[in-house]
Amino acid sequence: MNDTSVFEGAMKFFDEAVQQLGIDPLAIESIKRPRRTIIVNLPIRMDDGRVRVFEGYRVQHSIGRGPGKGGIRFHPEANLDEVTALAFWMTWKCAVVNIPFGGAKGGIQCDPSQLSRNELERLTRRWTAELFEVIGPDSDVPAPDVNTDAQTMAWIMDTYSMHARKQVTGVVTGKPIELGGSLGRREATGRGVLFCTREAAARLELPLDGARVSVQGFGNVGGVAAQLLHESGATIVAVSDVNGGILNPDGLDFPALMNHVADAKTVAGFEGGRVCEPAEVLEVDCDILVPAALDNVITAANADRVKARIVAEGANGPVDAEADAILAAKGITIIPDILCNAGGVTVSYFEWVQDRLGWFWNEGEVNERLERIMVNAFDDVWAMADQSGVSLRIAAYMVAIKRVLDVHRMRGLYA
Ligand code: NAD
Repeated sequence: MNDTSVFEGAMKFFDEAVQQLGIDPLAIESIKRPRRTIIVNLPIRMDDGRVRVFEGYRVQHSIGRGPGKGGIRFHPEANLDEVTALAFWMTWKCAVVNIPFGGAKGGIQCDPSQLSRNELERLTRRWTAELFEVIGPDSDVPAPDVNTDAQTMAWIMDTYSMHARKQVTGVVTGKPIELGGSLGRREATGRGVLFCTREAAARLELPLDGARVSVQGFGNVGGVAAQLLHESGATIVAVSDVNGGILNPDGLDFPALMNHVADAKTVAGFEGGRVCEPAEVLEVDCDILVPAALDNVITAANADRVKARIVAEGANGPVDAEADAILAAKGITIIPDILCNAGGVTVSYFEWVQDRLGWFWNEGEVNERLERIMVNAFDDVWAMADQSGVSLRIAAYMVAIKRVLDVHRMRGLYA
């Protein structure tokens, strides 16, 4: 993973969208910079009794449209530049689906594989305590990211609530269901990919029923997207994960594949097709390609061999800037990451709403509301692309930038 280089690619698209909107560069300057950047030093007593100091971060890029929203990652290479870039990205992702959040991100520079569970708990709690005045349901709402999970969120919620002297479940999302988490969150990103793909296919008069689909990555995003596309009548012709790929031009027996994955925890070893390299699935003959594993997997080196009509970006930044132009020249429709994989942050918003109301929705209600938001966002982006004669990617940034700038204008400048 190289989030900084992915971010540089995203910046090119952002700058192009700004140019298309004809915005005064000075007005953009104020929304390019983060609103607030915080570094905290976290002394932790290790299990052997010694004290080690870890560096932690929280960056609020924008809080104009609502509280900051964005994950916290634990990684040896987490640093302020990366966290700042990811916070910036969250601003546009939240704006494109029109949920009332700004963008934020956090991190702790640490190697979680070298820390015990107790050390991780102390580190998480100390980060939360140091940032007590900064995070909160009305100001900034963290969520899981690389190497953090529902347990991490439970520790953050508990620490924050102890300091606040009351239960504040809405301070983080991605919590266990028992502590105010939302039903449907695990599937939300893959489900959002389905809704966007379905809308794009309808516009291109490509029936989903019988459409041939290839999926790279079979985790939270790719596995769920494949399952839901299969349930919508699509034929899954290829899948891959880190251990390998499997393809069958006549369609994989999907229920049998899911049984295999349930036992083996990987698609590798499934016998219903030809074994291939994980990256080969990007180039197979198909109508819809869902890259849902890693960034920068479609580049100038292989873009020419992509045969799909639609590329639905489940992962963040799977198509680099050069490949984006090559795919466009081939007439391939790319559903951009900030729209396509925004189902997850949308259901995080639902979790925050449910926590604040103390009124929890069943899974059907969550999915129905998710569908409405994703379809509206897709419509807005499609209309902008149509009006302005730009790609869906540039249109998504244009929609998002316009929403953020509009709010800034309405609020005015307090100075
Ligand atoms: P995950 O860990 O659940 O799954 C990742 C999958 O990719 C696994 O099946 C893994 O085996 C596979 N993979 C890893 N290396 C591969 C390779 N070289 N070739 C093929 N497959 C490979 O992760 P996830 O939550 O599904 O996230 C996938 C991507 O989507 C990431 O880029 C993530 O940042 C992005 N994303 C996730 C969410 C979310 O809600 N989970 C939201 C937005 C974006």
